[in-house]
Amino acid sequence: METTTDKETPIGALKEKIAHFCELRDWDQFHDMKELAIGLATESAELLDLMRFKRPEQVAEMLENTVAREKIADELADICWMLFRFSQLHRIDLSQAVLSKMAKNELKYPVSTSKGSNRKYNEG
Ligand SMILES: [Mg+2]
Repeated sequence: METTTDKETPIGALKEKIAHFCELRDWDQFHDMKELAIGLATESAELLDLMRFKRPEQVAEMLENTVAREKIADELADICWMLFRFSQLHRIDLSQAVLSKMAKNELKYPVSTSKGSNRKYNEG
């Protein structure tokens, strides 16, 4: 297994690695936009399922437990895999998309009215 960190690894490198993995398996044919969106939702549900029926203190403890922490990391990786695959195959630049959405969020949630508040932008 390769070892690297978020600081060292560009998103594009991960997208290329996933694309190569899929090319070797001839999986492009299965990865239309709908299937990848379903995969993204399914993997997100698998992350939620790890915490299902657990009390808040039990959920917090999961991050301190090696086995539980690895399960959480695995599901986050599955979510990233689907996200990167979706964006790679359907030509959406994630860095541009995130920065563009952050600019929109800056307008929706100005610090002057949002600091310390959990209200949604349209909840007055
Ligand atoms: Mg999974």
